[in-house]
Amino acid sequence: MSGSRVLVLNSGSSSVKYQLLDMRDGGRLAVGLVERIGESGSRLKHSPADGESREWNGSVPDHDSALKAMAAELDRDGLGLDSPELAAIGHRVVHGGLRFTEPTVVDDAVLAEIERLIPVAPLHNPANLTGIRTAQALRPDLPQVAVFDTAFHTTMPESAARYAIDVETADAHRVRRYGFHGTSHAYVSRETAKLLGRAPEDVNVIVLHLGNGASASAVRGGRCVDTSMGLTPLEGLVMGTRSGDTDPAVIFHLMRVGGMSADEIDTLLNKRSGLIGLCGDNDMREIRRRVDAGDERAGLAFDIYIHRLKKYIGAYYAVLGRVDAVAFTAGVGENSAPVREAALAGLEGLGLAVDGGLNAVRGDGARLISPADARVAVAVVPTDEEMEIAAQTYALVNDSGNQNLT
Ligand code: ADP
Repeated sequence: MSGSRVLVLNSGSSSVKYQLLDMRDGGRLAVGLVERIGESGSRLKHSPADGESREWNGSVPDHDSALKAMAAELDRDGLGLDSPELAAIGHRVVHGGLRFTEPTVVDDAVLAEIERLIPVAPLHNPANLTGIRTAQALRPDLPQVAVFDTAFHTTMPESAARYAIDVETADAHRVRRYGFHGTSHAYVSRETAKLLGRAPEDVNVIVLHLGNGASASAVRGGRCVDTSMGLTPLEGLVMGTRSGDTDPAVIFHLMRVGGMSADEIDTLLNKRSGLIGLCGDNDMREIRRRVDAGDERAGLAFDIYIHRLKKYIGAYYAVLGRVDAVAFTAGVGENSAPVREAALAGLEGLGLAVDGGLNAVRGDGARLISPADARVAVAVVPTDEEMEIAAQTYALVNDSGNQNLT
């Protein structure tokens, strides 16, 4: 095994987020973002650990140009992609279907399988593939590792993973519940166990990943047993722009009575629903400001968001039977004290409570916000998907390196 650095790439359709980490000490050497790829006004923001952030606007027509621009910035900091210190590149891949239960070193067969999954992840997998192929072209000799958002959820039992629809039809089209945000749920459930001073195998946790996209999971002894997202990230909680759960008949109704096409309804439910559809804003800070100012639409949007969240907490409490901790994470979960308070209000009978003082304190690290004598711990645990991807990538290339030696 040579280097100790891992470059993590999260390639979206019009953006690439990257982080260069040193796995000897978990240090972040550089983080950056290329936005509006293939659009007007492309922008790069690069922040090295030992220096000032740099930004530029220019033309970035495609992912190849984006990764070359990133590589040039890393070069300027003496962290270039040709460094022998770079051990591997870890890629976030959204959909791994049932086949990828673990991080996987990319080869042609793996690329083909990620491509085969495009029909169930039309927005994400094509961009993830482009990112991998572009990185391969830049460093063909380096291991490229795919880390799948779905992998952590492949332990779900069939009772949670199957929809109650005709089995042959479902299987013919690979219709089942896959779940997403798995890297975050895995990391946060483990960090929660650490915070409690217990082994992950001994702890049952409900993880609430509340970002712009949002999902809940029930984790028993370190393994996911249920999660709120399904075939796609549309199912489950109310999100920034997605509806979460609806009666599927809403779709037929909008087609037959509303005269809308499948694509129009897809856009409606994914981009114009959730908080933004309910009140015109999807940023929880703005929604809370409006609620505090007495805005009724924002108030209703907040109430619907909290009602759904509470239903999932109750459902996963029942799925797990015994709950040791509820962990809040991601943009809303880590930062919004009113959401945490409202989500658990009235659940004292389940041993769930938030200490007002602790909940109000802002902090960077993982922390408990439940009263000292609470039956169930309530925690705020900052997620770190890049660190988790880097750790899994590094562990995998080290393992295969060791195997080659024996
Ligand atoms: P994603 O990765 O899904 O894009 P994040 O986890 O970064 O999302 O979460 C983004 C969301 O977090 C924002 O849309 C906003 O609603 C919320 N958010 C960020 N900071 C705060 C804050 N200080 N208070 C309340 N909500 C916040």
